Amino acid sequence: MNSSFLEAKPILEKLHKSGYEAFYVGGSVRDILLNREIGDVDIATSAKPEEIKMLFRKTIDVGAEHGTIIVLHKDIPYEVTTFRTESDYEDFRRPSTVAFITSLKEDLKRRDFTINAMAMNINGEIIDYFNGKDDLRNKLIQTVGMPSERFTEDALRILRAIRFVSQLSFSLSKNTISAIREHAHLLESISTERKLIEIDKLFSGESYEEALNLLIEGNVCDYLPGFSEKQDEIKKLSLFNFKMLKTKEEIWTVITHFIKPNSVEEFLRSWKLPVKLIKTVEKNVFLLKRLLEEQPWSELLLYEAGIDSALSTERIRSLLVDSHSLESNLKNVKSAYGNLPIRDRRDIDTTGREIIDYMKKPPGPWVSKMITEIEKAILTNKLENNRSAIKEWLLSCNQNFEQNY
Ligand code: ATP
Ligand code: MG
Repeated sequence: MNSSFLEAKPILEKLHKSGYEAFYVGGSVRDILLNREIGDVDIATSAKPEEIKMLFRKTIDVGAEHGTIIVLHKDIPYEVTTFRTESDYEDFRRPSTVAFITSLKEDLKRRDFTINAMAMNINGEIIDYFNGKDDLRNKLIQTVGMPSERFTEDALRILRAIRFVSQLSFSLSKNTISAIREHAHLLESISTERKLIEIDKLFSGESYEEALNLLIEGNVCDYLPGFSEKQDEIKKLSLFNFKMLKTKEEIWTVITHFIKPNSVEEFLRSWKLPVKLIKTVEKNVFLLKRLLEEQPWSELLLYEAGIDSALSTERIRSLLVDSHSLESNLKNVKSAYGNLPIRDRRDIDTTGREIIDYMKKPPGPWVSKMITEIEKAILTNKLENNRSAIKEWLLSCNQNFEQNY
């Protein structure tokens, strides 16, 4: 058995010892059958949340009302979720072994897609009530039950279906696509935060091009922030080589570049992206625009960008216009950045105090403006970055400054 499952095995054993049923479920079972790298190992059990909390030393209550408790085992968090309770009444009337089977089956039945609705027992045997294995073999994403019903219950599943197309390079059956088209409007009621998780996964997947085409074909774009009426832009976006990108910031820079929103900031905020990411993407989009307007990297531009944004935007620029030179372009940017006389204001070989002394003027906002001038002069090689050169330069320019400040 895969080591991720083995690491979680003591949790299942403990639940078994206390008389509960417990299985590995969901994405990890799918991924092991696909030979993909396993993400989180999730566990489903007949134990109730309170019972799970009592059994394990370290637990985090993330949503006991939905039946989910996080169990920390050797510092790894596992979602342990109670079989759904709708079937309790049925269980009550049946012998316990059948009751357990019914419970697990009910639990798997509420899951979104057949490939996500398999379980694995502690011995590695697969439990597959809904032909998930067949769909894995046929590379098909199908809902457990009628797609229309399942998308009506939770419209996020529409986006999940499409992001699994991207991640797994699977297809959607015709009736799934038509159900998506019919129910896409229900995405209006889904929170942006939940949509963002799926969209982020979509852009990190292998088959994002197919997935983006499905967003268009399924009329889903109209229910994604800033994507409405942007079919042509999304089509072009789908042809970009996302696989060469390194960070989420780069992905969102490319998305923004192609979508061309009226306001970059509003677009990024409408996706509820973290403020720090928004700031970086705004900067990258601005830099990229300048680079694409054929402005080469100058010392000042590199300095303003900082190394991370400089490399990110150069990577994107190269992928847009000149992808065979990507590596050498990045190398050039790195070395040009390395050759900058300063990389930060704090690298300037003088202080505000000294400037005030040289200029014999009372402190004020002029000092910061002056530092900006010094910064610019150093970066454009008009001034050497050493204390006495700066002093001399300041004194010789004194007259100019008298006029300007
Ligand atoms: P990933 O590898 O990206 O984490 P995953 O399949 O594990 O994919 P999760 O969002 O972690 O996806 O969900 C875990 C499991 O919970 C799924 O495999 C599925 O069985 C179930 N699930 C998640 N979201 C839904 C939903 N909206 N409706 C029904 N079942 C869901
Ligand atoms: Mg998961």
